[in-house]
Amino acid sequence: MPEFRQNMVSKEWVIIATERAKRPDQFLQKKEGKKALPHYRKDCPFCPGNESMTPPSLFSIEKNGAWSLRVVPNKFAALQNHLTTERKHEGRFLKADGFGIAEVVIESPLHNPTLATMDLEEVRNTVFAYQERYSVLSKTGRIDLVTIFRNYGERAGTSLEHPHSQIIATPIVPPHVRNPLYQSQLACDTFGDCIYCGMMEEERRQQVRVVDETDYFLALCPFASRSPFETRIYPKTHRSSFVNLSGEELADFATVLQNTLRRLHVGLNDPDYNYIIRSAPTEDSNVKYHHWYAVIVPKLTTPAGFEIGTGIYINTTLPEQCAEFLRGVKIG
Ligand SMILES: [Zn+2]
Ligand SMILES: [Zn+2]
Repeated sequence: MPEFRQNMVSKEWVIIATERAKRPDQFLQKKEGKKALPHYRKDCPFCPGNESMTPPSLFSIEKNGAWSLRVVPNKFAALQNHLTTERKHEGRFLKADGFGIAEVVIESPLHNPTLATMDLEEVRNTVFAYQERYSVLSKTGRIDLVTIFRNYGERAGTSLEHPHSQIIATPIVPPHVRNPLYQSQLACDTFGDCIYCGMMEEERRQQVRVVDETDYFLALCPFASRSPFETRIYPKTHRSSFVNLSGEELADFATVLQNTLRRLHVGLNDPDYNYIIRSAPTEDSNVKYHHWYAVIVPKLTTPAGFEIGTGIYINTTLPEQCAEFLRGVKIG
């Protein structure tokens, strides 16, 4: 029997189509996997020796006299940082200059590792760089939202092989982010506490969708997952913004992020994915009603007409089965 399930925060519905249900292992990517990459390419703008192909570093981490991570402005950004944030009208239509700040985090000097396979130290450096840049960008005064994300593989929207993530800071909080915030605010007004904290309590009670639990984080396949193997990582202590993590929490986040990506990498043979760190808008960095999280979306299906037309996603797997599958993956 197919069923509708509701995301308790955003109130969005999904259809879990169990009639057409696929077993989690049916999403295993082709046996041969991705083509093996070299550890260095002389035409790669992110490989060492080619620093002149990118703008100068905004932040870097050095080891043994060489960089092990660099953050640089995104040369091909959709937004530019020298414009105004002023809203303008064209007749009844609203517009604004394309102001924003876009940066790239080059996670490793090597061309071929992935977050699932690189040294934990490099993953720690990466999330540390996220926090450093998040902190700087959110203090510029003209930024309302800092979005950190990673596109891995062509299906996820990148053709650049070198391991990297992106940060885009905008002077706009779009409805896609604002609407769940309204809902969580209303829930907090009604029940007096954070709806995400309540959801986690329920997930820990039911256990069936939990993938991993560490000192500070819970990784799970959400009850109303929109697509197969959607996985979210929530801090167990209430925190509305990623910027407020302590050093110890940040190190633990690196571990749980890498382990979750490794479960997907090993279990499904290196699928493409997007992940996004969904933190509160800068003005809400310390509120009771919002709880930040990271969401990993493996690119295993393509939203089609019904999804685009209704916003209701049809998921052909059970989140409970995906969680069970991921829990069972040996990650060494
Ligand atoms: Zn490279
Ligand atoms: Zn909370």
